[in-house]
Amino acid sequence: MIEIVIPLLAAVALGGLGLRGWHLFRGPARSRVYLILRLVVVGLVTMLLVTVSVWRFSKSRRTQLFGGMVTRVETSEPVVALTFDDGPEAGDTEEILAILEAKGVQATFFVIGRALAENPAEGPRIVAAGHELGNHTYSHRQMLGVKYSTVKEEIEQTDALIRAAGYKGAIHFRPPYGKRFIVLPYYLHTHRRKTIYWNIEPESYSDIVGNSDLITAHVLENLTPGAIILLHAMGESRAATRQAVPGIIEGALAQGYQFVTVSELLEYTKTQ
Ligand SMILES: [Zn+2]
Repeated sequence: MIEIVIPLLAAVALGGLGLRGWHLFRGPARSRVYLILRLVVVGLVTMLLVTVSVWRFSKSRRTQLFGGMVTRVETSEPVVALTFDDGPEAGDTEEILAILEAKGVQATFFVIGRALAENPAEGPRIVAAGHELGNHTYSHRQMLGVKYSTVKEEIEQTDALIRAAGYKGAIHFRPPYGKRFIVLPYYLHTHRRKTIYWNIEPESYSDIVGNSDLITAHVLENLTPGAIILLHAMGESRAATRQAVPGIIEGALAQGYQFVTVSELLEYTKTQ
């Protein structure tokens, strides 16, 4: 709703701005100072509304300007996707891979191109274990206000590294911080690539993020068929998440869910 209301308000303010400007040059000289003040105020309010609007829209989980976006898949089958963002980092990758292997579960890793290049053994390790690699840009910069050439470079450099790691499947994309506006969705749309988001994000709650039991409980309480779980398991600050993974897997399996990769999950949409 806010994505519609704010642009509308901004449009009204812009209209007012135009009208004031027109009056300024048509009206009597004595009222010009007053009109200039009005112009400044309306201009500032408009800028603020447009900024808030773009910010909210760039994070929207409901819509984007171009291309397909997926936050979860509509299915009645008890399938869910476990996705890990950022990295890969040496050490933490092995720890996560060992957990997944012990539980016999496949996951999707949205990796950063630069991290792949800096840790060349980790990408092939993830691929060899049968997991999926997704593209999370090369530098993990915010993809707002970026040029087309930057988007192309960020994505294509990372694709090349993912291929070099031996991954052969479809490479899905997830924007850093979940943010995008015009150029990135346009690029993805013209390259027929889906933007993959998530609908379960335990680490986004400050009272949950540092506690592995709470992370596990949050995921298990919110699981539904077709869910996409977002976790960050790389780095020292993410120890609680790494500890939560076995409990998440065991709990979900006990609820009758099966873990699939993002590509496999998307297949369930087509059969609806
Ligand atoms: Zn990220």
